[in-house]
Amino acid sequence: MPGSVIKVKRQEKIGWLERLYVPMIIKGLFVTGGHFFRNLRGFVTGKNRTDFVVQYPEERVDYPSAFRGMPVLVALDDGLPKCVACGLCEFACPTDCISIVPGELEGARIERYPEAFDIDMSRCMYCGLCEEACPEEAIVMSREVEISTYDRQSMIFEKENLLVHENLLKRRIDFIRGDYERDREPPKSDV
Ligand code: SF4
Ligand code: SF4
Repeated sequence: MPGSVIKVKRQEKIGWLERLYVPMIIKGLFVTGGHFFRNLRGFVTGKNRTDFVVQYPEERVDYPSAFRGMPVLVALDDGLPKCVACGLCEFACPTDCISIVPGELEGARIERYPEAFDIDMSRCMYCGLCEEACPEEAIVMSREVEISTYDRQSMIFEKENLLVHENLLKRRIDFIRGDYERDREPPKSDV
């Protein structure tokens, strides 16, 4: 089910009817009642179900490309992270929830890589600044939002849990290229 954006026209000046207060409360009750009875009719007859809220988790919204879920690391075909451990995302993160330990890979196409890359998801606020700061398109905002654990320690996602193949992130990567006015893939860090 696709999500939709409804633009609400906000009234800047308040008229005498609004100042009386009670008529607007009655108007609001009519609007709420109208939705309630339309949904009730849809529920009973099974028709006009477009007015329903999403019956989560049986039904899911197809989030738009601009949606920011949990940040993940882009994995290349060989399973290695695209990340070159430059630390820019760590520096840009306003909640200090990223921690990186850089390492070197002898003879690999990308010499520098993150030996460890952790994100404390209990502190992440899904702002996307890490994604914006990354020069390699190596960390992107996924569509994953179903993150819940019984303890805080389990909210620390390590590199192995963060890696997602780039094919699965194509929609978001295409979106950020347009959004950040990047018209091509960033240069490869060949050795
Ligand atoms: S989305 Fe924001 S808070 Fe979360 S890791 Fe990225 S920069 Fe930090
Ligand atoms: S900014 Fe990108 S390349 Fe640099 S450490 Fe973060 S994810 Fe890796």
